[in-house]
Amino acid sequence: MLLSELRHRVWDANMALPTENLVTMTSGNVSGRDPETNLMVIKPSGVKFPDLTPESMVVLDMNGKVVEGEFGPSSDTATHLWVYRNRDDVHGMVHTHSNYATAFAAANRPIPCVLTAIADEFGCDIPVGGYAAIGGKAIGEELLRSIGRSPAILMKNHGVFTIGPTVEKALKAAVMVEDVAKTVWLALQMGTPDRLTDEEIEANYVRYHTRYGTADASVIDF
Ligand code: 13P
Repeated sequence: MLLSELRHRVWDANMALPTENLVTMTSGNVSGRDPETNLMVIKPSGVKFPDLTPESMVVLDMNGKVVEGEFGPSSDTATHLWVYRNRDDVHGMVHTHSNYATAFAAANRPIPCVLTAIADEFGCDIPVGGYAAIGGKAIGEELLRSIGRSPAILMKNHGVFTIGPTVEKALKAAVMVEDVAKTVWLALQMGTPDRLTDEEIEANYVRYHTRYGTADASVIDF
């Protein structure tokens, strides 16, 4: 069977969607792109999460031809392919309907950058893309037009799409976007939280992307 390691990672990330409370029933999907063969592994369409296996993942080439798989590929396949075809740096992609983030998408409101966690991971307000029909390249086109440097975008009237250099980083962005959406929603019930300044956002983004998780994570200057 092709791409057994990537199949396993994509399956594992798909299984994390219900565990992290980001989806219900059969909604949502995860894919990964193999840098060597340029083949994509994606969730099969409409299969319940407990029934998914690494073997049931579908493998396609960048033209959308199924190379291996007994099920039909996700209905968001064209979206994932469009992003991979147009962003060489992206090798993982996640789609969810997670509640708090999708509430912002339904209301056509970006998630304002009012938390250091948003500045760290997303580096800006988490944007909303315009409504685009499911099934073709429209979501992918709108996603790339509107996502900026954020790894996450809220698609109006639809839900969350995240991208990353790996499947695992795209999954992390999907978990974090829901976490910060919930916190911002709670803060909005108490008033209007202050947005971080552009300088504060930049400083947090750079620190997180250069030092976080390394020996230099903590600068002690007292
Ligand atoms: P699939 O099961 O076809 O991936 O559909 C899930 C979904 O959320 C569509 O937007």
